[in-house]
Amino acid sequence: MLPTASAQGSEALEVIEAAREAKWERPTVAGQLFLGRVLTPLLFPYTVQSDEDRRIGDAYCAKLEAFLKAEIDPDEIDRTGEMPPKVIQGLARLGCFGMKIPKEYGGLGFSQTNYNRAIQIVGSYCGSTAVWLSAHQSIGVPQPLKMFGTEEQKRKYLPRIAAGAISAFALTEPDVGSDPAKMSTTATPVDGGAAYRLNGQKLWCTNGPVAEVMVVMAQTPERVIGGKPRKQITAFIVERNMPGVEVVHRCMFMGIRGIQNGLLKFTNVKVPKENILWGLGRGLKLALMTLNTGRLTIPAACIGGSKRCLQIAREWANERQQWGGPIGGHEAIASKLGWMASHLFAMEAVVWLTSAWVDRGDLDIRIEAAMAKLFCTESAWTIVDHTLQIRGGRGYETANSLKGRGEKPIPVERIFRDARINRIIEGTSEIMHLFIAREALDPHIQLAFDMILPDRTFGQRVKAAARAALFYAGWYPRLWLPRLGFGRPKEIPPRLRGHWAFVEMTSKRLARALFHQMMIHQQKLEKRQMILFRIVDVGVDLFAMSATISRAVSLSSGSAGSTSSAVELADLFCDTARGRIRSNLANLNPSEDRKGYRIAHDLLKGSYSWLEEGIVR
Ligand SMILES: Cc1cc2nc3c(=O)[nH]c(=O)nc-3n(C[C@H](O)[C@H](O)[C@H](O)COP(=O)(O)OP(=O)(O)OC[C@H]3O[C@@H](n4cnc5c(N)ncnc54)[C@H](O)[C@@H]3O)c2cc1C
Repeated sequence: MLPTASAQGSEALEVIEAAREAKWERPTVAGQLFLGRVLTPLLFPYTVQSDEDRRIGDAYCAKLEAFLKAEIDPDEIDRTGEMPPKVIQGLARLGCFGMKIPKEYGGLGFSQTNYNRAIQIVGSYCGSTAVWLSAHQSIGVPQPLKMFGTEEQKRKYLPRIAAGAISAFALTEPDVGSDPAKMSTTATPVDGGAAYRLNGQKLWCTNGPVAEVMVVMAQTPERVIGGKPRKQITAFIVERNMPGVEVVHRCMFMGIRGIQNGLLKFTNVKVPKENILWGLGRGLKLALMTLNTGRLTIPAACIGGSKRCLQIAREWANERQQWGGPIGGHEAIASKLGWMASHLFAMEAVVWLTSAWVDRGDLDIRIEAAMAKLFCTESAWTIVDHTLQIRGGRGYETANSLKGRGEKPIPVERIFRDARINRIIEGTSEIMHLFIAREALDPHIQLAFDMILPDRTFGQRVKAAARAALFYAGWYPRLWLPRLGFGRPKEIPPRLRGHWAFVEMTSKRLARALFHQMMIHQQKLEKRQMILFRIVDVGVDLFAMSATISRAVSLSSGSAGSTSSAVELADLFCDTARGRIRSNLANLNPSEDRKGYRIAHDLLKGSYSWLEEGIVR
């Protein structure tokens, strides 16, 4: 993901680089942490939704909750692998398919916060239903159409979609997962450019088998830019009833079994040029920019699922008696409960802060949203695993089986299966690390660009070197200066002050570590993924600590009076995060990375095939 000399030859990197949003027009709070700066005035006070927006969200979530309980049986959906049509019709009547569509186009016009609150409620109850809604409007047609569509396109499609016409997003292909450069679906101009013929296959398209309308990414003819032919990926609005659109196979998965997901085939599908979204060659950028906010939906669903897990784990840890008392009294189980509660608090702090920033519109949240995705999906996975462990054998047993022998049908087994996908879709955890690393390094790359790019003149190189020298001469020494506490928010309670000072000091240490690794590895840093991943993990934990402290302050000084339990949770989370941060920074480049890489290399060549002996072949 980093534009190094070695990467210049890599088409994949070039395509992704060209699609990146290159400009930073608004401040980035998380991005600045990697430069050793904590933007305190943006973090305090904790940004919350307005009272009016909250009232809208409260009323809608109450209606949604009542509908879910009355109309949806998540275990039945899981068993049959089918979403009953009456559920979809009911959701459409509630306006669920138009939550993010502006009112003028027939939608509910929700803020990001209220949309995420609705997804949280659904995610706490039924993973499949949450995916139907989220694939439809976080990545499906409405979001890119809202962001990049023409007025004519919006008027044509948004009212239909708000009324319940299901939409989907088709990027992945059998040979194209994380790396879109190899995309083989093509769109060839016909009729003098008045239309395009679409040919190819799209894999794992959620909602695809039932979608009336979808965004399809395809390669349009290459263009020569800067003297070189460049791949062009373009986004098209494709209607299901266009001749040549075919659902070849419905895919089934270990969890979220009620979703509709398929392998789609496009054979000479004629798409009018009016259906191009945003413009030729801008498809990948559109996808990446759509995901910048779209990525907040999965974390919101993760909060819902994690809250449900916490409730299940708390009840069972109280009720289940073993070895002379409730299992929650044994330290091993209690420490899991503490981890779950404190991380859930941190997940909420990150997601609601970032969602409120989206609604405010004056910050660039691309790094924060990617951090929210990474942090919440990984934390939620640990939370559901802890819940299963706390439930013991009952955690592994299906709800149906529990019911069959007269016990409460608590569906931890289903929740566990449903939760696993979150670490894969909308950017795997590995790709999220690389994305955040690329964005974190951007200020340094911007400074270095004119020095390393081959087409720059000598004069440009000298100017760039002078600019970089000036920046680093001022910036680097400051990373060693202690923070004197000026501007530190006075409202932080004593219990959390040490944690805040740690965030301030450690962001400088993080910036130094990143800079030192850049100096040591230079352009090869791109290949040292484990170093980059640890640096990113430190940044994620620092951002989560900042959001958590700010939220705890806001809750403990709100009109509801002192909420010391929020401070307790923030304190525990910060202790745990500090342990991870210290370990990552102390061990940025351990010898096991190199040993592991060497063994993996030999393993891939077959040198360890003897380890696979003794199994059924
Ligand atoms: C249930 C489900 C729903 C989906 N819905 C949609 C949808 O609606 N629309 C759509 O377009 N797609 C969809 N997808 C596809 C999904 O986005 C991809 O699965 C995801 O992008 C990863 O691609 P892949 O599975 O091909 O993995 P690969 O890209 O083949 O990666 C395999 C593994 O290698 C790792 N990896 C890859 N490259 C690197 C690298 N450079 N460095 C380090 N590690 C790397 C990955 O993180 C992963 O762990 C869906 C998939 C599933 C399973």
